[in-house]
Amino acid sequence: MTPPDLSLLPARLSRLPELAHDLSWTWNTGREVFRRLDYLRWRQSGHNPVLMLRQMDLAGLERAANDPDFLAAYDRALLTMDAWRATGNGHAQTYWQSKIGTSNDQVVAYFSAEFALHQSLPIYAGGLGVLAGDHCKEASDLGIPFIGVGFMYPQGYFRQRVSPDGWQQEVYEQLDWANAPIHRAQTFDRKPCVVAVPLGTRTVLVQVWEVRLGRVRLLLLDTDLEQNQPWDRELSARLYSGGQDLRLQQEVVLGLGGVLALRALGLAPAVWHLNEGHAAFVVLQRLRDQLAAGASWETALVEVRRTTVFTTHTPVPAGHDAFPFGLVEQQLASCWGSMGDEREHFLALGTYDNGSGPQFNMTALAMRSAGAINAVSQLHGEVTRDMFAPLWPGLAEGDRPVGAITNGVHVPTWVAGDLSRLFDRHLGAQWRDRYDDPSFWAAVVDIPDEELWAVRQSLRDALFQFIRERARVRFTEAEVGAARVVAGGAMLDPHALTIGFARRFTGYKRPDLVFRDPDRLARLINDSRRPVQLVFAGKAHPADETGKHHLQNIFRHALDPKFGGRVAFVDDYDLHVAHLLVQGCDVWLNNPRKPLEASGTSGMKAAMNGVPHLSIGDGWWAEGYTGDNGWLIDGGVTGTDLDAVDQADADALYRLLETDVVPRFYERSTRGVPGRWLAIVKQSITTVTPRFSTRRMVKDYIERAYAPAFRR
Ligand SMILES: *Cc1c(COP(=O)(O)O)cnc(C)c1O
Repeated sequence: MTPPDLSLLPARLSRLPELAHDLSWTWNTGREVFRRLDYLRWRQSGHNPVLMLRQMDLAGLERAANDPDFLAAYDRALLTMDAWRATGNGHAQTYWQSKIGTSNDQVVAYFSAEFALHQSLPIYAGGLGVLAGDHCKEASDLGIPFIGVGFMYPQGYFRQRVSPDGWQQEVYEQLDWANAPIHRAQTFDRKPCVVAVPLGTRTVLVQVWEVRLGRVRLLLLDTDLEQNQPWDRELSARLYSGGQDLRLQQEVVLGLGGVLALRALGLAPAVWHLNEGHAAFVVLQRLRDQLAAGASWETALVEVRRTTVFTTHTPVPAGHDAFPFGLVEQQLASCWGSMGDEREHFLALGTYDNGSGPQFNMTALAMRSAGAINAVSQLHGEVTRDMFAPLWPGLAEGDRPVGAITNGVHVPTWVAGDLSRLFDRHLGAQWRDRYDDPSFWAAVVDIPDEELWAVRQSLRDALFQFIRERARVRFTEAEVGAARVVAGGAMLDPHALTIGFARRFTGYKRPDLVFRDPDRLARLINDSRRPVQLVFAGKAHPADETGKHHLQNIFRHALDPKFGGRVAFVDDYDLHVAHLLVQGCDVWLNNPRKPLEASGTSGMKAAMNGVPHLSIGDGWWAEGYTGDNGWLIDGGVTGTDLDAVDQADADALYRLLETDVVPRFYERSTRGVPGRWLAIVKQSITTVTPRFSTRRMVKDYIERAYAPAFRR
């Protein structure tokens, strides 16, 4: 890795690399700096300032160093960054400091297999990663002493391409470390942080990278070291690929390696937050440490429970990692040495029968060793207490120790700049500090309809510019053909009612439900005075054939003349595409098979941007729908006859579209403003922003999960 050539930088701009390497620029004033520095390179680099700085030439840098507007933005961004880092040293207190007191050396360590921070760091697959990333950003905003621990996957998750017949292609690109906003973590004696993890009968070396995110740091584990065997170097190459064996090995590295890395860096967590069962081997390393220090099994487990927080994320049984005992025995072979008779105790912590015989279940391990357990929506809480009932024999549903902290999204990350500026004008800039206060949002009703509508229109325009440009770029790529351009959205109408659907392509999310009655849909779509269009995006897991078939169906519908070029599939869904879609569509569609959506978060992002949710009452919408802030799809049929359920839900969806959504959108005043539509848009913003922000969510975690361990 070659560091950026700092000697080229004019002295006045000497802190640009520092700004580029602190990902808090993504939601603070830093974005403006890089846009202004060189707009073309900014776009070409995929909004990656680290890459962009490496590509800048001297002339461009000199120009910036003499441009007063640029320098003003630059100074502003540095001031913000420095003020943040200085809080607590005599500056204003953070939320954490006012609630819990100034920090000692203790931290919250947050483990997750994926983190979605920015598209330039492709170490996420979807919703779980976005939640983890947003949690870290909010932890920084609130001033929690907080360290994330995850993986540096140099090949990340895949980039998605679609073949001319609509079949998903997975492309893996090797990350160039020098272009990523990461640096090597260093121990106190300024050595690279490398730890040795026992795996099977061998030892795997793990190096630690670090990401800076405002007040928060993220540690990323990486096994690609020369000293490791070739197959071990590949261990952390990709996210969620390979079979059970690889998955288990990754989880051992994350759990054990993460604990060892924190120790090597001199960090002593007061709270260990396990985001999903992938990280549950943290418990194993912590138990080993206590036993090695002489504690009894009972004492060690009590201490681990007191300090472990576990968040579970899926009501789909297959979504919980479970491994055959033989495999676990094999991969943990050299851990047992120090555990003596405690090995059986440990295996018992993970033993669980989810219907296909007893296995070693990571969720069971986490639940049996955490003192605070939560699901990610109220409904998901009920489902989880029911689903894992065998873990607490004899306890009634209400007594089983699984709470619910409904997910949220990071408001400064997801609310569009144009809309934020509208809020600045009408709510006052203090909305940026007070957005989890519901009473504060009452003033949204007073925003003039014309102004709000103008912003909504401009956000839709930005989406269509992006869609057309992506279709054009794909056209220039070999062997793609004109069909791909049509399916990519080249014929969409920037003024028509646009329904967005973007999420992982998998069976229970029913991506093609809206096509269940093609004739009825075609009538809706092709109404010449009130046209409707559908924009889809999302990846199928590489091993999910059903998901890929759903995707291919969408692609074929997009090419079917029956739908008039008004159906599109935008490929390679990532954070960037997600931003454009949740801000630029008019309605956000979500039609999972209830109750399989634990929470869902894309609908929250959309709703905050004035893109009302049209959804089954599952996940967060079961508690978010108020009657006038969007639409509830309720077919009224439940049970095991899935075909009947699907039919009823599709009917309910068509009825809502025909009788309310479409007519409302096209009902315009003489000045062309849809007043009754905007009433829903305003309710959507008002009711969803405060309650489904990570500000509210992380405060809940502080109160209910973190503070008790700190306050003891
Ligand atoms: C928000 C987001 C998700 C999660 O959306 P769901 O509604 O939970 O399916 C997935 N991927 C990306 C890129 C996102 O931004």
